[in-house]
Amino acid sequence: MEIPDKIKKRVENLREIIEKHNYLYYVMDTPEIEDTAYDSLVLDLQKLEKEYPSLKTETSPTQRVGGEPLKEFKKVRHQVSQWSFNDAFSEEDMRDFDERVKRMLEKESNRKIKPTYACELKIDGLKIVLSYKKGELIIAATRGDGVVGEDVTNNIKTITSVPLKLLKPIDIVVEGEVWLGKNNFEKINKERKKKEEILFANPRNAAAGTLRQLDSKIVAERKLDSFIYDLAQSEETPTSQIEELQYLQTLGFKVNKNFKLCRDIEEVISYWKSWQNKKNKEDYLIDGVVVKINETKYQNLLGYTGKAPRFAIAFKFPAEQVTTVVEDIVLQVGRTGVLTPVAHLRPVLVAGSTVSRATLHNEDEIKRLDVRIGDTVILQKAGDIIPDIVSVVKDLRTGKEKQFIWPMKVADCGGDGSIERMAGEAAWRCKNKNSFIQKKRKFYHFAGKQAFDIDGLGPKIIGALLDAELISRYDDVFTLKKGDLLVLPRFAEKSVDNLLNSIEKAKNVNLPRLIISLSISNVGEETAYLLADNFQTIEKLKKVKTEDLEKIEGIGPIVARSIIDWFKGKENIKILDKLLKHVKIQDSPFSGPSTSNVKFVGKTFVLTGTLPSMSRDEAKEKIRSLGGNVSSFVSKETDFVVAGESPGSKYEKALELGVRVLDEQEFKKFI
Ligand code: NAD
Repeated sequence: MEIPDKIKKRVENLREIIEKHNYLYYVMDTPEIEDTAYDSLVLDLQKLEKEYPSLKTETSPTQRVGGEPLKEFKKVRHQVSQWSFNDAFSEEDMRDFDERVKRMLEKESNRKIKPTYACELKIDGLKIVLSYKKGELIIAATRGDGVVGEDVTNNIKTITSVPLKLLKPIDIVVEGEVWLGKNNFEKINKERKKKEEILFANPRNAAAGTLRQLDSKIVAERKLDSFIYDLAQSEETPTSQIEELQYLQTLGFKVNKNFKLCRDIEEVISYWKSWQNKKNKEDYLIDGVVVKINETKYQNLLGYTGKAPRFAIAFKFPAEQVTTVVEDIVLQVGRTGVLTPVAHLRPVLVAGSTVSRATLHNEDEIKRLDVRIGDTVILQKAGDIIPDIVSVVKDLRTGKEKQFIWPMKVADCGGDGSIERMAGEAAWRCKNKNSFIQKKRKFYHFAGKQAFDIDGLGPKIIGALLDAELISRYDDVFTLKKGDLLVLPRFAEKSVDNLLNSIEKAKNVNLPRLIISLSISNVGEETAYLLADNFQTIEKLKKVKTEDLEKIEGIGPIVARSIIDWFKGKENIKILDKLLKHVKIQDSPFSGPSTSNVKFVGKTFVLTGTLPSMSRDEAKEKIRSLGGNVSSFVSKETDFVVAGESPGSKYEKALELGVRVLDEQEFKKFI
């Protein structure tokens, strides 16, 4: 398969930028971006390498574990392999993991196996490898590049929770995490600020920086702490991960007490969820949950890939910063006519939900960020806060990105589209003050009963969506994601799910409803049905000519003019085409020979009064589905008036003109 140059270039750029951040993080202890944004870049690279395997290389950062050791320290070659973990970012990833391990276990053993899981908190510190001889600590090393680490024994000896002598005189190698408490971190940074020294980015980097201090006295002052979680080499072989943790405790190690045995993957997911809420209460940083198959025998059956164990996975907490691509920048007209640029994004999971929009606030912000269409950006969403573009990853530019040119006129403003920027204000506005109201009305109509009939998308919510700059064109309704909606005031998870379900359902629309939804002047329900019946497809209707319309009984010259004008408008066709990408036009049940009924074809019906057994819309739909037409006015051309309970003046008019009147029973027999 020929790989597009664009992809090759992106892979190359991603590798370069990931290596740069690896160096800053592992070697210099001065990261420039959040871990989750870094993870997002790695994920992007992994996806491309999976899609285009020939681009994979041995030296790709996806194949590496950790960073290189510092020159100042004595090097230590690890006696045990240093693995990384594969990551899971969602419940779905975890269920996939569960299925995958069960499948592999069955294949290896020829029987169905139901493993249990050991969950531990994933402490965000610095990994250390401790070697003991006859119960005495002889070497403590950092992970380094996974093969060679740095000898930091003197520094580790300052950590009071690391036993220098074990409770049993045995030879073992254990692994764990060195961390710095949040309170200590604050104190250290305060001191550094006073001395005008560079501040540490977070406790993890402060811990790493401290452990790699050449002066052990400074290390002792900083009060690092430890948790040990793994027995890497030992004569004792526990039968499970939980047993292993308990054994480490009996030797005198500090083990994090929050580990839990889970009977199945759903229990694992509950544990992960509960720690998302509790994690900030602890003094140490936690960036997820390490999930391991508990039974050692099953761990051994599964073994390792080149980089990571197959029996374990790091179940990361929802990222608050990720990277994604800006696919478009769209101007949104607000309630007061203010124009807000909104970035339409490649949908991305951030803070636990998928997001596809981010406001760019105003023209100055676009300039400040220098964000262009096609750019990879860092997107932030902390908790319920609205997603925000933090910065552009400029190193990933290919030169094909498009600058957003601020327009001089905006069609959505109505009138001649003029806009103005008030002196001293960042915002541009439409000169025409009614544009927002008009737009709102169009959306009500679009989602209304006669058009897309989107349950739950009423005036209030449409107002909120427009206010939040989440919708601007009709097709925007169909690209909304859960995370876009969760930020709306009083919009709970359940209402978001319901709305998204009705939007999904509404994608199946028939032609007359689609025509109605477009708000073409003078085109109401009846004309829409006439158009659908005569043109059959939207493609044919797009090419409509005056002479086609003249032939249709029921469409007069004024209505014809409106239809022609609408379909001539380039902007209208653009909007329609975008909308068509998201909807599926169902065959109109009223047209075509299979459903038509000779009694109905070509006949005109008028409805009046209430029909107890069906709604007005149902009755209309039925008549049309059998080939009849529905009109609102009684004339000599009317064939039938269907009169329900408490009929109005149309009934009298029918009697006056001698039009046949059907009561509900007769009508039902008829159909
Ligand atoms: P990983 O995600 O593969 O996890 C392995 C590590 O988890 C172990 O080395 C260990 O230190 C730790 N751990 C904590 N608690 C544990 C437990 N209970 N059991 C087992 N292990 C436990 O780690 P990695 O390969 O070092 O991943 C790199 C990390 O560094 C990522 O979080 C990444 O975001 C970050 N990073 C950030 C940048 C940046 O620029 N911000 C750059 C490079 C790496």
